Amino acid sequence: MPRPISVRIHPEAVRHNLQTAKQSASGARVWAVVKANAYGHGIERIYPALAGADGIALLDLDEAVRVRELGWTKPILLLEGLFDSVDVATAVAHRLTVAVHCDDQLALLAAARTQQPIDIQLKMNSGMNRLGYRPDVFRAAWERARATPTIGNIALMTHFANADDSAIDWQLDRFDAATAGIPGERSLSNSAAVLWHPRAHRDWVRPGTILYGASPTGVARHVEGVGLRAAMTLASKIIGVQTLTPGETVGYGCAYEADRPMRIGVVACGYADGYPRHAPTGTPIVVDGVRTRVIGRVSMDMLTVDLTPCPDAGIGSQVELWGERVKVDEVAEASGTIGYELMCAVARRVPVDVDSLVAARRDIAEESSEESVTA
Ligand SMILES: *Cc1c(COP(=O)(O)O)cnc(C)c1O
Repeated sequence: MPRPISVRIHPEAVRHNLQTAKQSASGARVWAVVKANAYGHGIERIYPALAGADGIALLDLDEAVRVRELGWTKPILLLEGLFDSVDVATAVAHRLTVAVHCDDQLALLAAARTQQPIDIQLKMNSGMNRLGYRPDVFRAAWERARATPTIGNIALMTHFANADDSAIDWQLDRFDAATAGIPGERSLSNSAAVLWHPRAHRDWVRPGTILYGASPTGVARHVEGVGLRAAMTLASKIIGVQTLTPGETVGYGCAYEADRPMRIGVVACGYADGYPRHAPTGTPIVVDGVRTRVIGRVSMDMLTVDLTPCPDAGIGSQVELWGERVKVDEVAEASGTIGYELMCAVARRVPVDVDSLVAARRDIAEESSEESVTA
């Protein structure tokens, strides 16, 4: 038997969250963002749940090819564009839409030998100062792109640095001012803007983290009313129990000291599984369906929990590290990070189970019958 730890992926939750995103940005088309192997969930595992999306957005060329090979016929967007001219042929062959954020990428496309023009999303740096053309040179870049025969359709995109409402307005205003009168579809909204900033919805939205049930702010309570479902459950079991007398300590560094007699459980999950080593005493965790807390220091393969609220728990008891009852963002917040990072960092050694895709398959069937009706 392997260690009793596993990560379970719930495609049905992704399907539900995608519907939630679509309702929140109704009228806009949706790029489902599946970079970083679908935020650690596995593109292939959740793929059937994406049938309702209008496009799939990611970063790696090989991921884009994998998505095409899975049978995806709708658009695929490379969010950072191409990094090398050798990749142009692959982008053309797989009909990829590519971001263009700088003159090097424009030159790379201009030099491409292709009969088939490549659709692009011209990216503006509206204030985040990562990728994109500054507002004052954006129009000139758009004119050069339009004059480039190897470039087809040109959409306009930008990315927001902040999640909350008022903090994105200045970027939005800059974008609107610098693109006034330029034709083309607009694509601006990440998950936060999908949920909280209707003015930024425009033609296409780009939700990522909410598809997986996590909070764009990294704070679980910020999405409490939204009805997102966790797409990942990290689960394990209790493999040891200790009874402490007051004054005894637990684990490396003797970081936790019992102030009363207490039972503790040892869970088969540590930082080598992707659980954050910085999770402090008090981080929420569920044992036998009861919320309790991590105590002491997380070690490589194990962590310890307080069994006081669940006196019947013992060896073999089920543990939820994160999932529906403990949100990944709750663990992340306690540990000084965000759910995004934890979802992406579940270790390779953790076996993966995938829920049945019955509902998701039905969704695909509905989609294709809709298409055949309209065709
Ligand atoms: C990652 C990413 C997104 C999705 O962001 P979330 O906060 O996960 O919704 C959207 N657009 C771009 C350009 C990205 O890199």
